[in-house]
Amino acid sequence: MPTKLCSQAVLCHDPVPGDRGHEAGDNRAQHLEDRLLKKTPLPAGYTRGEKYCRILESSGGTLFAEQELAIDENMKFVKWFDKTAYGRCKIDVSLKKDNKITCLDWKTGGIREDSLQLKINACFLALKHPEIETFVTKYIWLKHDAVTPKDGVFSKEDIPAMWEEILGWVERMKSAWRTERFDPKPSGLCRGWCEVASCAHCGKGGRR
Ligand code: SF4
Repeated sequence: MPTKLCSQAVLCHDPVPGDRGHEAGDNRAQHLEDRLLKKTPLPAGYTRGEKYCRILESSGGTLFAEQELAIDENMKFVKWFDKTAYGRCKIDVSLKKDNKITCLDWKTGGIREDSLQLKINACFLALKHPEIETFVTKYIWLKHDAVTPKDGVFSKEDIPAMWEEILGWVERMKSAWRTERFDPKPSGLCRGWCEVASCAHCGKGGRR
């Protein structure tokens, strides 16, 4: 993954072929936001999220869509494009009810297990809503009509350790940036997702 980020952010290989799906994903996210906030029917070809929208609508509580949360280095909220923004987190959908928040992330590609994004979502929501005790975080895989992970439920007490994990990851990325060392870390993403052709692991796969 550091090699992929290097290809995108340092060497500016543009476009990185593995990101071709982002535009379609952005369109889908916009349609789902309009569906949830403005009741605009999902257009043909984008209707896979309808059943989840209905479940959310019938659940009660307060619904948020495409929430943009940005914080500075002191963990204070700032505007999304503020120059002091240190961390940004866009939450596709969240449903706040009593002392629980359910946070969903729409996905368009193949199912992958990656809990980091869910933890980041929960941590930002914990900052935004300090009164919340339980965070339920899920990916909705639209193409597969599937919801993962089976767990993804965090308590308020889990949040500090999750921030430590996230900030540790940030520190490793900063160190890679400083030393300009972006060693490849082969994983299941090398095959079928990442297309950094210059990487020796591209297309070969690795550990999951
Ligand atoms: S092919 Fe694998 S190891 Fe290489 S940049 Fe892509 S994800 Fe990283």
